[in-house]
Amino acid sequence: MRIVFVASEVFPFAKTGGLADVCGTLPLELERLGHEVSIIMPGYRCTDGRHQPFNAHAGVTTIGKDLKVYFLRHPGFYDRSELYGDAAGDYPDNIDRFAFLCHETLRFLKGLGTPVDIIHCHDWQTGLIPALLKENYAGDPFFARTRSILTIHNLAYQGVFPKEDMSRLGIDGKLFNPGALEFYEKINFLKGGIVFADHITAVSPQYAREIQTREWGCGLEGVIRQNKERLAGILNGLDYMHWDPSTDIFLDPPYTDGGLQAKAIHKGKLQQALRLPVVDDIPVFGFVGRLCYQKGLDLLESAFDDLMKRPLQAVFMGVGEEKYQKLLVKLAKKYSQQCGAIIRYDESFSHMVYAGSDFFLMPSIYEPCGLTQMISLRYGTIPLVTAVGGLADTVTDFSREEARGNGFIMSAHSVEGLLEAVDRALGVFSRQELFNGLRIHAMACRWTWESSARHYIECYEKCLRSA
Ligand code: ADP
Repeated sequence: MRIVFVASEVFPFAKTGGLADVCGTLPLELERLGHEVSIIMPGYRCTDGRHQPFNAHAGVTTIGKDLKVYFLRHPGFYDRSELYGDAAGDYPDNIDRFAFLCHETLRFLKGLGTPVDIIHCHDWQTGLIPALLKENYAGDPFFARTRSILTIHNLAYQGVFPKEDMSRLGIDGKLFNPGALEFYEKINFLKGGIVFADHITAVSPQYAREIQTREWGCGLEGVIRQNKERLAGILNGLDYMHWDPSTDIFLDPPYTDGGLQAKAIHKGKLQQALRLPVVDDIPVFGFVGRLCYQKGLDLLESAFDDLMKRPLQAVFMGVGEEKYQKLLVKLAKKYSQQCGAIIRYDESFSHMVYAGSDFFLMPSIYEPCGLTQMISLRYGTIPLVTAVGGLADTVTDFSREEARGNGFIMSAHSVEGLLEAVDRALGVFSRQELFNGLRIHAMACRWTWESSARHYIECYEKCLRSA
C-alpha cells in the first residue's frame, strides 16, 4: 500500500506531545512491514536545517529505509518560535495555518504525480483533508481510489473557529451545516474529519469507548456515536529501541532488569540536580508531561500538603499553562526538601526523570493513550494512575495476593483516591524484594508498534475494500 501521513508534529522534527511520537514511529513500522510510506508536515522554524530543498514549496529528508518526510513551506505561517501559540495563547491565524496545510497537502500530492491509497490524518489540524477529498476533489481521477483515515489523539482539541471565517477555508460554504463542518454555529475541523473520513481511529480501545459518552465526548459524542461503525480503538505502541534503559545515550550507566541497583545512581543524580536530599530509602515520585488541565495537576495541588506529610519526594518536569508552571514552582519552593520542579522541555533530562524515579505520577483526568506510563514501566518506574483511556488499557493494579499488576490505580480521581494509591505504593516500596519483583515485571511489559501497525493495516485494507 502507498500511505501518506499528514500531521502537525512529528518526532524528531517537531514535538509538543505524544502525537509527535506516534507520527514519528508508526510510519517507520509500516515501512518495515513492507508498505510505501511518506510523511507531510509543516516546515517550521524548528525544522529548518533538517531537510534539503525539494521544490519551491517544500523541503525533504529521508528517514528509515526510504521514507520521505516532506516539509511544506510557508514562512508567514510556520516560521515562528512555537508550533501552535505562545504565552499570549493560540496563534490567531491558526485557522489559516492549518487550512493551508490541508489544501497544500493535496496539491502537493497531485504534484508528485503518483496516486496514494491512504491519507492518514492526525488530529484537528488535518481534519479538513477528508472534507476536501469528498468535496473539492470529488470526481478527480487522481484521488478516485484514495481513502482517508483520521486518528483522534485528543478529542479536547477540535480546531473551533467563528462561522464568519468559513470563507477562508477554500471549501464550499454549504458545508457549514450541522451534518458537516458546523458545530453549534462554529466551524469545527475535527468534526469535519470525523464526518468525512472513510475510517476513524482513537488511540486506545478504552478511549474509543469513552469518547462516545457524554462525560468524555467533549460535545462530539453524538457525532462519534453516529459514526461508530467506522471507529476503532488502536493502542499506541512504544518505540522500544528509543526507550531502552540498557542502550539509552542519556543514561550513564545504562541498566537492565538484572542490574536495578544502577537506578539508585540515576536517582541520586536526579535528587542532586533538583537540590533534594540524596537518599535512597525515600521514594521519588516523578512526573513528565504537558502542564495542562488534563494531567490532573489541580488534584495534585489539593492533595499536596497531605502528600508532603509522607516519606516521599516529588519531581515535576513540564511546560505548559502559566498557572501550572507557577504552581509547580510554588510547591517546589514551599517544600524545597521534598519537591523539585523543572519548567522546560528537555528530552535528555526527561530520560533522567524516568530512570531516577521510583514511581511515576499520572493522575490524569482523561488520557487518550498516554505514552509516559509505558516509558516509565520500561525504566522500572512504577506508574500510579487514574483508570481512564489508555491508562486503563496498560496499567493493572498491583496485588501481591493475586500475583498481578504493574502499577497502582487510584480508586477515584479524588484526594482520597490519590492518597490511598500512594500509601499502597509506599507499602510496597518499603519491602525491597517485593518492589524489585514489581519493577522487573514492569520492565517486561510491551506494547509494540508492530502490533499497532498491523491493526492500522487492517483498517486501511477495510477502507480500500470499500473503494
Ligand atoms: P500527551 O500526548 O498528552 O502530551 P503522552 O504521554 O502521550 O502525552 O506523551 C508525552 C510525550 O512528551 C512523552 O514522550 C514525554 O516524554 C514527552 N514530554 C512531555 N513533556 C516533556 C518535557 N517537558 N520534556 C521532555 N519531554 C516531554
